[in-house]
Amino acid sequence: MKIAILAGHGGSDSGAVDPIEKEQNDGIYQDDIYTEESDVNLKAAKILEKILTNNGHEVFMARDRDVYISLQNRTHFANDNNADIVISLHANAAANSAAEGIETLHYPGSENGQKLANNVQKRMIKASNATDRGIKERDNLYVLRKTLMPAVLVEMGFLTNPKEEHLLNEREYLYLLMEAVAAGVDDYERE
Ligand SMILES: [Zn+2]
Repeated sequence: MKIAILAGHGGSDSGAVDPIEKEQNDGIYQDDIYTEESDVNLKAAKILEKILTNNGHEVFMARDRDVYISLQNRTHFANDNNADIVISLHANAAANSAAEGIETLHYPGSENGQKLANNVQKRMIKASNATDRGIKERDNLYVLRKTLMPAVLVEMGFLTNPKEEHLLNEREYLYLLMEAVAAGVDDYERE
């Protein structure tokens, strides 16, 4: 398959950050690492690119370095390359640092988008043992709404949750998650 990978955010848009945890946390957790979402997304995207390419897919990366690309251009990128599917990678944030888990978003009414989301989500939960936040319909996300092919947006975990923030900073964990995403893609293709 032709697969477009969109590493969320980048450049001036760092996405979810966990900046002043010491001052701003809600008192449940505290840790000392600073993580930018755009950086985690890019690392995961590069790993996923490698795995999917090894599995025989043709992969397009909307960005392969720390640059800002507008949502419109990300979407054009997927559409212009005639991708069969789109995988957008993100990490989550919440005011409550106890919030945790993985979720996969798709556009409402896209049967194949839902099927892809289901397969990817199932594999990630099985591989990681993370909290299963399920698949969710979202009609207000540009890259899901404007792409012409089945698209999913994966929220790999919460950077505001110290446990998940640490995991998402580990290369081995990103590998494990991206292997799972790739397995989910293959499940989708077989279905
Ligand atoms: Zn994001």
